[in-house]
Amino acid sequence: MVSTFSNSASVDLSGVRFTIRNLQPQLVEWRRRLHQKPELGFKEKLTAEFIANKLQESGIEHQTGVAQTGIVAIIKGEKSPLNNGRGNLAPTLAIRADMDALPIQELNEVPYRSQHDGLMHACGHDGHSAIALGTACYLQQNRHSFAGTVKIIFQPAEEGPGGAKPMIEAGVLKNPDVDAIIGLHLWNNLPLGTVGVRPGALMAAVESFDCTILGKGGHGAMPHQTVDSVVVSAQIINALQTIVARNVNPIDSAVVTIGELHAGTKRNVIADTARMSGTVRYFNPELSGFFKARIEQIISGICQSQGANYDLNYRSLYPAVINDAKMAELVRAVAEEVVETPLGVIPECQTMGGEDMSFFLQAVPGCYFFLGSANPAKDLAYPHHHPRFDFDETALAMGVEIFVRCIEKFCN
Ligand SMILES: [Zn+2]
Ligand SMILES: [Zn+2]
Repeated sequence: MVSTFSNSASVDLSGVRFTIRNLQPQLVEWRRRLHQKPELGFKEKLTAEFIANKLQESGIEHQTGVAQTGIVAIIKGEKSPLNNGRGNLAPTLAIRADMDALPIQELNEVPYRSQHDGLMHACGHDGHSAIALGTACYLQQNRHSFAGTVKIIFQPAEEGPGGAKPMIEAGVLKNPDVDAIIGLHLWNNLPLGTVGVRPGALMAAVESFDCTILGKGGHGAMPHQTVDSVVVSAQIINALQTIVARNVNPIDSAVVTIGELHAGTKRNVIADTARMSGTVRYFNPELSGFFKARIEQIISGICQSQGANYDLNYRSLYPAVINDAKMAELVRAVAEEVVETPLGVIPECQTMGGEDMSFFLQAVPGCYFFLGSANPAKDLAYPHHHPRFDFDETALAMGVEIFVRCIEKFCN
């Protein structure tokens, strides 16, 4: 699907869209500047400095160094609030963007390619920061267009170890208290000109584990003197597949993947130990704690039956991204106005990928959504985290427009 955004005949040339379209060259410039200097989680020094400078230049009140490298900007609307019976006459809405890059060597041959060896904005967080910055600047110029307060949260370390939780702990949702939050992910799994949004679960809970099977090594020809950690591992890996197949309600989606298995040094030596690592994904928050217990039960039972021991390290990383129904409806209605076609709003957009936006959504009602950014005609359709990932920058102004229209609807 091709976007109707940039050359639609029905474009409102006097309103929000026109003003935001004029921001597009600026958005592209900012995004490319950020793209050239990617930084890993909690090391976003140049990134934060760049964002803070732009906020400063625009006269936007902000605080830096929140949860190490995070930034919070505050813009107060000047419109008189409507007494709409909601009770809170001056709501506070937060917009969240992440800033970090990945340890990937960029293979794109573009003028704005990464200048940091081995690091790359391969998930689009450079775009998220540019969109949030553009939103902040637009709102600062148009304070008459909304009532209440908007907080723009620039969060570190989404790719790991997670910057959302420390930012919440640092108090970003307080003073003034945030009533709701929205955020977006540029999304190459959807074409430019579409928005993926739905109430309820959008992205999965992420858990991971490392397990070492402690057997007893020996001669490959004398297995009776050993406890073969490779054979024990094989049984465990097969048995772990039964968790999703036989224990989880088939209506609930879930994944158990073993992505790493290391054992042995030589073909005629029985391995003393074997090490496996895996990841677990699911949507239903009621399954929290279930996989940890079941995985340990299986590992423990098989080890016991085989005379092996084990060492298991299990971690719950991010909860599932669960959208509030009302906030999802707000974003859906706005998205339909922006893409100008109901077909461009796609509710079938769930993914088992994870996101620490989930912590914000646990704390306050909100909505996270996908902004389609793939454009195969321009060879901009590589998946996220690919060394040739890039997106169609036309999506940048669309992101700003969706945020601004949501703010004007919510803060009114
Ligand atoms: Zn990513
Ligand atoms: Zn991402």
